[in-house]
Amino acid sequence: MRKKVLVLGGNFGGLTAALAVKHELEGDVDVTVVSKDDQFLFNPSLIWLPFGKRDRGDLTFPIAPTFESHGVDFEHVAATGIDADGKQVTLADGRTLDYDYLVIATGYRNNDDVVPGYRENAVTITTLSDAEHAGTAWQRYLEDPGDIVIAATQGAGCFGAAYEFLFNTSYQLRKAGLHKDVRLSYVTSEPFLGHFGIGGLPHGEQLLKMFLKKEGITAHLDAGIDHVAEDAIVLADGTELPSAYSMVVPPFLGQEFLLASGLTDDKGYVRVRDTYQTEKYDDVYAVGIAAAVDVPWQTPTPVGIPKTGFPTEQMAHTAAKNIAAQVRGEVPEHEQAFGDIKAICVMDAGNNGVVILADKMLPPRKHGVLIPGPQAHLMKLGFEKYFMWKMRHGYVQLP
Ligand SMILES: Cc1cc2nc3c(=O)[nH]c(=O)nc-3n(C[C@H](O)[C@H](O)[C@H](O)COP(=O)(O)OP(=O)(O)OC[C@H]3O[C@@H](n4cnc5c(N)ncnc54)[C@H](O)[C@@H]3O)c2cc1C
Repeated sequence: MRKKVLVLGGNFGGLTAALAVKHELEGDVDVTVVSKDDQFLFNPSLIWLPFGKRDRGDLTFPIAPTFESHGVDFEHVAATGIDADGKQVTLADGRTLDYDYLVIATGYRNNDDVVPGYRENAVTITTLSDAEHAGTAWQRYLEDPGDIVIAATQGAGCFGAAYEFLFNTSYQLRKAGLHKDVRLSYVTSEPFLGHFGIGGLPHGEQLLKMFLKKEGITAHLDAGIDHVAEDAIVLADGTELPSAYSMVVPPFLGQEFLLASGLTDDKGYVRVRDTYQTEKYDDVYAVGIAAAVDVPWQTPTPVGIPKTGFPTEQMAHTAAKNIAAQVRGEVPEHEQAFGDIKAICVMDAGNNGVVILADKMLPPRKHGVLIPGPQAHLMKLGFEKYFMWKMRHGYVQLP
């Protein structure tokens, strides 16, 4: 009897895990992907969508043909429950699916309750529909401009996107001839500029300070937000920052349906070992943003950890190798702690940017470097095209 692998989620983690398992076992396994969305979404380019530099069609492709061409079954439906003892997943249409091995790659949702007024009075860019809404608000803003606040709240982890949006906003203000008249502020829970939720990298703080100074941006560090008002962001210390356009990056949470599975922490993230097997079940894995990662430091204002694309793919490959080993009757011994995965990222700044490279996501590190310059912007453009091509064709073995 061929073993059944069930993958929940069809984006960076789910698509990679599903196709990598097929590849590892040379097709001799039944793989099914269940996903709430039937499109792949290249989230890193959401930063450009509000400014009209990209639209929905540029950042997405339908995933059914990709899975079909690799012999993977695809179910476009949300999972609603996991019975890990009974090895069954419940779906929103009432069906249940059995599995021998399960991979949870259901990513994130916004914590909409993080700060009062955030949903009503600010926009965000962390989902496709949110980024589209931020674009409509940007068009309205241009008709009646004023000061702007870009913020990453207490507990947020996706700082790269906040910085990228900040610098892209500055670039757009220049293009619109508004740069001199608009006060642009950055509010962050990071203890210092360039912390990025990964503890910072050598010379990162100086570099980010230089970028902010050049763009005339004021930073509020180690800042909690008390609430978002209609025309201002009010910090925990009472500072009121007037704002005609507020873009706020909230913390992420795991999907709600996972909370009842007994597999998660209180944020809905699945607790995993370095094999990406869950703490409790050898046959249940979690990868990508869905997997819990402990924050290894305490900061005065809490910061989260960014679970970016490269580590997500690495986790998915590690899980796939271990499932393949289990199917072959071997011990699943591939291990890769999140903190030891390389950090590879490009931070875009409109027509400029910074390439971020480090030997490890989390300290202690041996190497870490930030390379600024216009080539970083071109790299991000090229990477978007390459990555969409790679995923659309299911070439998950490529770097
Ligand atoms: C604005 C932004 C910018 C970013 N920029 C970068 C960057 O520059 N570089 C970088 O490396 N990373 C970046 N990231 C991070 C990157 O997008 C994530 O690492 C990646 O999306 C994680 O993939 P994932 O598969 O774990 O989760 P997701 O991408 O969240 O995918 C989750 C999948 O699960 C599905 N799903 C959800 N709930 C259910 C359910 N109940 N049942 C079935 N399916 C479900 C969803 O439909 C989706 O297919 C950025 C993220 C954001 C939000």
